[in-house]
Amino acid sequence: MRVVILGAGFGGLELASRLSEDWGERIDVVLIDKSDSFVMGFSKLDVMFGRATADSVRHPYSAIVKPGVRFVKAEVRSIDPAARRVETDAGTFDADILVVALGADLDPAATPGLVEDGHEFYTNEGAFAVRDVLADFSGGRVVVGVTSTPFKCPPAPSETALMVHDFLADRGLGEKSDVSLVMPFGAPVPPSPEASRALLSAFEERGITWYPNRVVKELDPARHVVVMRDGEELPYDLFLGVPAHVVPQVVAESGMCRDGWIPVDSLTLETEYPGVYAIGDVTSVGTPKAGVFSEGQGAVVAEEISSQLRGDPQAGSYGGRGVCYTEFGRDGVGLVDVTFLQGERPTGAFTGPSHDFIEAKTEFGSSRITRWFGRDWS
Ligand SMILES: Cc1cc2nc3c(=O)[nH]c(=O)nc-3n(C[C@H](O)[C@H](O)[C@H](O)COP(=O)(O)OP(=O)(O)OC[C@H]3O[C@@H](n4cnc5c(N)ncnc54)[C@H](O)[C@@H]3O)c2cc1C
Repeated sequence: MRVVILGAGFGGLELASRLSEDWGERIDVVLIDKSDSFVMGFSKLDVMFGRATADSVRHPYSAIVKPGVRFVKAEVRSIDPAARRVETDAGTFDADILVVALGADLDPAATPGLVEDGHEFYTNEGAFAVRDVLADFSGGRVVVGVTSTPFKCPPAPSETALMVHDFLADRGLGEKSDVSLVMPFGAPVPPSPEASRALLSAFEERGITWYPNRVVKELDPARHVVVMRDGEELPYDLFLGVPAHVVPQVVAESGMCRDGWIPVDSLTLETEYPGVYAIGDVTSVGTPKAGVFSEGQGAVVAEEISSQLRGDPQAGSYGGRGVCYTEFGRDGVGLVDVTFLQGERPTGAFTGPSHDFIEAKTEFGSSRITRWFGRDWS
């Protein structure tokens, strides 16, 4: 069986690793990505705030040595889901099972003024550049803001607001600075009231101003003012933004999307095309766009493929659960355990924040790198 996986992010790497572990050379897995390395989502914040260097958080795909798996560095140029055929700049690939795991692309230019006068911190380049911007910043009004929904890792703007506050305070710039957070939700982590309460109290403790249920419409570079969708304005000296999210263009052109994202069966992750699955941020499966959910969906598709290979109709079924570590700046790290089941209200438990979870979060990241790349990351 030939499985072609488009995208070697959280979802694609988990799926390829599981298939290799279960089937070794008895399966033919082609894993395609246009990048030459993987960067974990939360590593962007580590680089931004000077905890890690950009080089130390890049994991080269050339390190992947897994029985049955071939990594191909190529840009996917077209997807024909009915024929399960993919054109790339490194040739054409036909699949028995095709899995689209191409994530969400970011479009900073969709928000007027963001590219000219703000800084997005959601791409690797953007986040790595903010490291230098912060190093040169001499204090002032900082606005962290979200420009549209859906967006990846819903806690990340709250984490950023706390971390930027503590970063400036540690540099003696706290008195000269204030931090505001503009979020499209009524609570920082809507499915977890406990996590939201903990974040709101951390904001209050630090004097961070919280603007719920607002979206940044544009920046006015001439006046250094954020304009929100409801018309309210907020002046800034430094704007750190979450840009608009869209499917990669090749996915938009494939005809697989409805309402901007790929619809899938919420239990099996199969698309409306037989033998074609989609996992992670590229889908509208109903879970937040976060690595832990992409990973869980990759595991379910691996189980589905293994069942087909065994001729066993009993496949895995997606449970919508994700456990996320959330940064609380100097207070350490909190643990949010959320479950999104179709037709049910999402639930979320919260523990922390605590310094004990710092090590657990490091272990979470390094265990993935060891499993996916076969190398230590310390
Ligand atoms: C600041 C920040 C912090 C975050 N923190 C966390 C966290 O703590 N926990 C968490 O779970 N999640 C976190 N996330 C979210 C997480 O990074 C993403 O949700 C996750 O990576 C999505 O996984 P995925 O497999 O769906 O897609 P991705 O990991 O985005 O992978 C998609 C892959 O497809 C490739 N690709 C795209 N188009 C093409 C093409 N045309 N041809 C070839 N290849 C292509 C890309 O290069 C990429 O490697 C964070 C994100 C950000 C921005």
